[in-house]
Order: sequence, then C-alpha cells, then structure tokens
Amino acid sequence: MIQPISPASDQQGSDASSLAASIARLEAENQALRVRMGYLHEQLERNHDIMGRHQAFDLEIVGAATFPELIGTIFRTLPVVSELDGVTLSLVDEGDDILVVMEKLGVDFSDFPQMLFVQHPEELGFMPAGEGAPQLPLLGPFDATVHGARFPASATAGKLVLRSVALVPLLRNKRLIGSLNLASSDSARFTPALGTDFVKHMASIIAICLENVISNEMLKYIGLTDALTGVYNRRYIDRRMLEEIARARRQQYCIACMYIDIDHFKKVNDTHGHQGGDEVLREVAARIRQELRRSDALGRFGGEEFVVLLIDADLDSATFVAERIRASIAGTPFDLPGAGQAGAVQASVSVSIGVASLPSQSEQLAIEVVAQQLVAHADQALYQAKANGRNLVVSASAS
Ligand code: GH3
Ligand code: MG
Ligand code: MG
Repeated sequence: MIQPISPASDQQGSDASSLAASIARLEAENQALRVRMGYLHEQLERNHDIMGRHQAFDLEIVGAATFPELIGTIFRTLPVVSELDGVTLSLVDEGDDILVVMEKLGVDFSDFPQMLFVQHPEELGFMPAGEGAPQLPLLGPFDATVHGARFPASATAGKLVLRSVALVPLLRNKRLIGSLNLASSDSARFTPALGTDFVKHMASIIAICLENVISNEMLKYIGLTDALTGVYNRRYIDRRMLEEIARARRQQYCIACMYIDIDHFKKVNDTHGHQGGDEVLREVAARIRQELRRSDALGRFGGEEFVVLLIDADLDSATFVAERIRASIAGTPFDLPGAGQAGAVQASVSVSIGVASLPSQSEQLAIEVVAQQLVAHADQALYQAKANGRNLVVSASAS
C-alpha cells in the first residue's frame, strides 16, 4: 500500500537516505581499510619472512669456519635470500697477501668467479662522506662501463640483464676492506633515493665475518709454514703426507719423496755469516720451488733440510726432477749481500738429494708406517749421496 507523503515523513525520508549514504560511505571506507589492512598484513608477513631468511643467512655466515665456506655461502645464499641477480665481493688485497695465502691453503678461485681482488681501496670508487666519515653505499642504474668489471659474465652467467646496482662499502674500524656488490634485473630495486640501512647492516656483518675468517686462515697458514723461507713446515708436510698416501691408494697413482740437504752449510754460515746463510736458505727454497708442479708440496724440515712430496710421480720422474733441482742450485752462484762496504758477494752452493717412492706392496700397512718408511728411504738415499761425494742425486726404490 502506498503511504501518503507528509512533510514530517519527508524529513524522516531524507534523514534515512543520508543515514544510508553515511553507512554506505562507512562501509566503503571500512572495505578500503580492510583491503589496506590485508595489504599491510601481507607486507608484514613478507617482511617477517625476509627478516627470518636474513637472520638465517646471518647465522649461516657467522658459522662459516673457512674462507671458501664463507664466500661460498654468501654467493650461493644471498642471491636467493635477497632475490638478487648478481652478488660479488671485491676485497682490498695489497701485495696479493690474501690471494697467495688462500691459494696455498688450497682455495681454487676458479670455483669463485664472484670473488674479486683489488690492490688499493681507491679502486673501489667510494667517496668519503666527509673528513673522517665512512664511505657511503652507491645505489643506481647499472652501467656496463662502470660496473661491468664488478659483475663479470662468469659470475652472473645465465642471469637476466642487470639494471640496477648497490655497491656497499665493507668497513672494519672505519677502514675500507672491500665492497659488497649487489645487482638486480629490476631497475627500481636500487635507486639513489632508497634507504641504505638494510644493505649497510648486511655489509657490516659480511665485513666482520670476512675479517674473522681471513685472520683465522692467516693464523692457520702461519702455523703451517716456515717463516724464513715461506715454504711449508714439517707439521704440514707430515699431515699432508698422510692425506696424499690415502688418496694415492684410493686413486692408484704413485707418489714420491725427496730429502734435500745443503752441502757444507756450516761453511756457508762461517764464511757469510748467519744472515748470508739465511739468504742461501731462502734462495735454495725458491730454486727448488721453481722446478716443482703446483700439486707438489715443499717443506723445510729444520736447519738446512727440505722435503718434497711429489704427487703422481714415480721414482724415475722424481729422480729426473731432483736432478733438475741439483743442477739449478749448483749451476748458478748465489748473490749474497756482502758485509759492510764489501757490496754483493757470490757463493757457490750445492745440495745432495735422496729420492724414494711409495713402497709398492704397502697396501696392508698403516698409512703412518708407510709415511715414515717413505721419508726414511729418502733420508737413507740422501746419506748415500753425501757418502758418494755430495752435489749428487741418489734414488732408492722404497719397495
Ligand atoms: P753436510 O754437507 O754434511 O750436510 O754438512 P753441513 O755443514 O751442511 O751439515 P750440518 O748438519 O753439520 O750443519 C748444518 C748447519 O746449518 C748447522 C747450523 O748452524 C745451520 N743452521 C741450521 N738452521 C739454520 C738457520 O735457520 N739459519 C742458518 N743461517 N743456519 C742454520
Ligand atoms: Mg743437515
Ligand atoms: Mg748439510
């Protein structure tokens, strides 16, 4: 039934419609708020997830015990955790100290094309923010001419085209030790306007971890090398010998050992002083090393005695190498710094070398016993070389 419209009910009607409009507006606002809340909630979960992944990443790198373990984790995990298309590290390494030590400890850098070294901090391209202020991260579009060297093709192979980068200084006690280089195929990922707290935090943890593992590896290296000559020490050779004998057994190849002793070294010391003697030790070590392969291990066993472990070499080839070493030392006189005004003086130096190879029927023996026998046989052959007149190579089949 149609109700007659009165002025009063007219008023009521307009109140009702404005109320309905308010409700509709409130509902729309409510809906918009819900959508916004939903979005914020999603963001929160996403951020929580990202934070969780980064915390797990932090824990993983803090737990890395060695240099290859640390950089391996960074290059493997960070691109996934941070959704990046390129992650590399540049490390300041004046005089190649870190590179040389890591290689000596067996790190194969061809496994890590993302690991880059520079000689000087200035090469990293950061500008100090002011007197005494730390360098700031550089964020912006990727420019192949500027950033290409930081992201070599081998380090980003198969990845999308890089469009934006963040170069983040690695600082320790305000000292620039390197740069964490991040790249994305998303041009909006890194822009100069972006806050840098997050990447700076990440870089500070990476810098601490890098410094720690590098110090540890350096200590390890010092514990395994001879300070005077830079070759390995006896402790290292003893341990390496056990590893190599075990591997040679598994993979069925030969290993050989040389015992090298400088002839009449007492006379060298008497004639040229202890410092002259030290110089001869260094030069002898260098000349031995020149004749060896990278896989061989040279150690100073104390005094003027050196031991070489030759990998994948039988008695004949080891004797051939020993003869080259003997000839290289005896063939060219050593230049030694003369005392006082005397200038440089020359010294003739020679070595005697005993060579032995891994005993063939040694499978049944304990590895430690085989190692002892290998060195003992080389030592006996050396004794023979001394008895036969010195400046000689004598080989003894250790079987
Ligand atoms: P041989 O031909 O029989 O081997 O005679 P040698 O004089 O070389 O042998 P010996 O083992 O009697 O002498 C080794 C000398 O090496 C004695 C020691 O003073 C010297 N020596 C040991 N360690 C060092 C060192 O670190 N620096 C220097 N300069 N001399 C050392
Ligand atoms: Mg000796
Ligand atoms: Mg000697």
